[in-house]
This record gives sequence, structure tokens and C-alpha cells, in this order.
Amino acid sequence: DPYIASESRYEKMQYRRCGKSGIKLPFLSLGLWHNFGDNDDLKNARTILRTAFDNGITHFDLANNYGPPYGSAEMNFGKFFQEDFKKYRDELIISTKAGWDMWPGPYGNFGSRKYLIASLDQSLKRMGLDYVDIFYHHRPDPETPLEETMGALDQIVRQGKALYVGISQYNAEDTARAAEILKNQGTPFLIHQPRYNMMDRWVEDGLLDTLEKVGIGSIVFSPLEQGILTSKYLHGIPEGSRAATEGSYLDRSQITDKVVKQIQELNKIAIARNQSLAQMAVAWLLKDARVTSVLVGVSKVSQLEDNIEAIKNTSFAQEELQKIDSILNN
Ligand code: NDP
Repeated sequence: DPYIASESRYEKMQYRRCGKSGIKLPFLSLGLWHNFGDNDDLKNARTILRTAFDNGITHFDLANNYGPPYGSAEMNFGKFFQEDFKKYRDELIISTKAGWDMWPGPYGNFGSRKYLIASLDQSLKRMGLDYVDIFYHHRPDPETPLEETMGALDQIVRQGKALYVGISQYNAEDTARAAEILKNQGTPFLIHQPRYNMMDRWVEDGLLDTLEKVGIGSIVFSPLEQGILTSKYLHGIPEGSRAATEGSYLDRSQITDKVVKQIQELNKIAIARNQSLAQMAVAWLLKDARVTSVLVGVSKVSQLEDNIEAIKNTSFAQEELQKIDSILNN
């Protein structure tokens, strides 16, 4: 069935400026790390993308190795792009990344010019795109000079293969160094993609301050702690969930009695706010304007619809924040 985007797609979503750039990102963006690989239900994947765009989610986030197998999320996204989103290309921000292992040998990992440029060429082919809106270095590489990696990002932009660049998982100090190099090169440095949620607050220890200082935005990943900060694990580990899935990055053993107790307590606060726990977790991130967008993953359309409602209430009373902190021992 041919896809026609909802005419009301820009009526509900809100957008926030990304640092000091010309780009605004939706409060929620959609990540394709899980659920878009060759072993996933692609009809479901396609409906998730359509629902996202119908709700004003203009940003889809990928990486070279999302799948499994590596590359398959980009391939599958490419098919849906051709069929559903091509006519909306200029309404979309599409990102991809390189930095983790992708192909065998010394040139398919980390941060060399060789790897980044070759990888983006592959990604563009898989997705059937002429360019991506954002290209990221996916993680810091302690062995490659930062000048080389940032030089590769600059060249990619000058080749017209990306409009903006970003970095992911860099600490505050390396981010400041990267920003300096990119500034000197005249490279459009848009965004940082760190891990951030109520249970993982490392960005509060300097990174967010650095981002504000250098004038770039942030899009935060694993905002729901891979599903822990939702109603999913309140009463055990449901079948088909990430924690129940062998080989996923969320292990059963992470759903401890202590964690279950914490989320049950957090859920009470969420209920008092008239929110689901997932909505409160998203809202909690958006309370800080230095967080430009919250990058959620979803395995079901109903999860996406749940998460989107978070934008209705993103402010917190001091008391609520203190309660959350004391539950999580922060
Ligand atoms: P989340 O913390 O949003 O976890 C997503 C998972 O949580 C879903 O797959 C689903 O799990 C569950 N979930 C989501 N919404 C709900 C809901 N409303 N109710 C119940 N369960 C829900 O994020 P991810 O860890 O998936 O990361 C999001 C994106 O961030 C990725 O797709 C990727 O684009 C990016 N990312 C970037 C990284 C980087 O290094 N730069 C690293 C990791 C992610 P279930 O499958 O159990 O239903």
C-alpha cells in the first residue's frame, strides 16, 4: 500500500534548536539500532517508521553496523525510503555513523580517514541516498590522531556526502578538542550523541556544559535504559523483551530486585504526574534544554505512541526531582 504522510504531522510534535545551528530536531527521534535487521518483522518496522513520521518525528538515526547482520538496518531502511519517504526527503534528517567494527581487517573499525570515508560510501549505497544529513564518528579512537578523524569528517562534508557532522560517546575533554579542530577547519559540527537517562547521568559531569559552551546540541541514546525505564519490567521479564533475548545488550541479570523496586517507586511518581513511566523518563530528559532530542528505540508502534505523549508535560516540580534522585540514590 502506497504511503501518504498524515497531513497533521506537524501539529503535535515540538522542535528544539540544535545548539547554535540552523537545524531544529523533534523532541523525540527514532533510532534503528534494533528491530530493523534481517531477522526482524519488516512489516512492523515499516509501520514504526510511518507512524513516527506521521507524528512529526523527522529524524531517523542509523549506523553502518545496525542489524543484524551489519548493514541490514541501512538496507531495509533504504527499501522503505525508496517506497515511502523519497518524496519527503527534504523533510527528513537522516544520520549514520562509523566507528565500531564493520568489516574484517585493520580498515573496518575505529577512526581512520580510510575507514570513515569508505564506510560512508557503503552506507549511502545501502540506503540509496546521495547524502546523509548527519555523519557521526561513533566512538572515540585513542590510537588515531583526532586531527585525522576530524579531517575525514571535514572532507566528507566538502564532498557533499553529509551536511553536518557529529560525534558520539566522546568525553567532555575530547569533545572540546574535537570542537576546536572542527572550528578551525570550518566544519559544520552540529551535535553530540551521548548515552543519558535517569539511571546513567555521566553527561551531567561536564559534557553538557561543554556542549553549551561550544554551541552544539545533543541527542541522547538509550533514554529508557533499553526498556528498564518503562512499565515493561515492573512485574518480571516478559517474553520477547530485550532482556529475554539472547545476545542482546540488555541481560536478564540487569533486572535485579533492586532495579525492580526502583522502577516500581518511580512508577508511582509517574502515575501521580498522569504519565507512564516511559513518558516520565523521556520528559525527565527534555526538562534540560541542552538535550535537543531524545533518541528512542521501539519494537512496537504502541511503544512509540506511548513515548510521544511525553511531550505533553516536560516540567518537573523540585520535589518530584528530589524524589526521583533519592529513589535512584543520586
Ligand atoms: P531505549 O532506551 O529507548 O530502549 C528501547 C527499547 O525499550 C525498545 O526496543 C523496547 O524494548 C523498549 N521500549 C521503548 N519504549 C517503550 C515503551 N513505551 N514501553 C515499553 N517498552 C518500551 O533506546 P535504545 O537503547 O534502543 O537506543 C535508542 C537509539 O539510540 C538506537 O536505536 C540508536 O539509534 C541509538 N544508539 C546509539 C548508540 C551510540 O553509541 N551512539 C548506542 C546505542 C543506541 P523491547 O524490545 O524489549 O520491546
